[in-house]
Amino acid sequence: MLRGLLLLRAAPTAARIGAGIPLPPPLPGAGIPLPPPPPPWAGIPLPPPPPGAGIPLPPAAGRRCELWAGPRPGLYPLRVPGRRALCTGGARGCWRCGAALVEPSDFFCPSCRALQPPDPTRDYFQLLGLPRRFRLEPERLRRCQRRLQRDLHPDNFSRSSEAERRFSEEQSALVNEALGTLLKPLTRGLYLLRLELPGEAGVEQEEEAGGGVPGGGDPAFLATVLQLNEQLEEARSQEEIRRVAEEVEARLQELTEEVARAFEQGRPREARPLLRQMRFWSSVGERVKERLLPR
Ligand code: ZN
Repeated sequence: MLRGLLLLRAAPTAARIGAGIPLPPPLPGAGIPLPPPPPPWAGIPLPPPPPGAGIPLPPAAGRRCELWAGPRPGLYPLRVPGRRALCTGGARGCWRCGAALVEPSDFFCPSCRALQPPDPTRDYFQLLGLPRRFRLEPERLRRCQRRLQRDLHPDNFSRSSEAERRFSEEQSALVNEALGTLLKPLTRGLYLLRLELPGEAGVEQEEEAGGGVPGGGDPAFLATVLQLNEQLEEARSQEEIRRVAEEVEARLQELTEEVARAFEQGRPREARPLLRQMRFWSSVGERVKERLLPR
């Protein structure tokens, strides 16, 4: 066929090349106008859905919030993954009986005792029934951990409905994540900073944007870093390494106290450079510990 076409073209006629060759029939869909161009945020990946996302909504007793803060502006239906409610009008309702859940840390319905699905509008402090502050006694957190691990243990739900078994898994995972974050002063501070300054870049993002300069370029901080690095490099004996480890630990303690004061005095922005330093010292601490043999 191709050969035949070539021969045809080569023929000494005045016809335009390709003339006379029958056109293929139009493709299906030809002539239908194209859809409008995608919105500017198309292709931006959404954050992973929080545990509990996709669970069918229970009859919303008294929930009115429909305006959500998220990566895209606008109104969203209730319980959209990854979005935070801008207002907290009304209590949640039990998924089974519709009774209002009064306390934000209610895991069980006060009326029918059904385990509730995770509520993505609660922060980790609300989830654990703790005050939203930096200074938290470790013993209080551990008490909370023991209580919730007991209440949400899968064994308690072995004879419950499939929904409740799923909620127990999701709530346990969320509680573990919350405890993991709030137990350590550094992660607790970084988390609280994000809550206190919503919409502002977190310490981690700021560091990435700033080329990762530790401590944000504070000269006194940099001098201490250089001195300690030198000390660590020259340290040969376990005793010398242990001294560096103790120094790092002392610095972390001081910073933890300074961060607590900044939050308590309502100056979360002042906690930001301190948390940056804490992040740095924690990673140095990890490195030092690697060189330390167990006693
Ligand atoms: Zn109920």
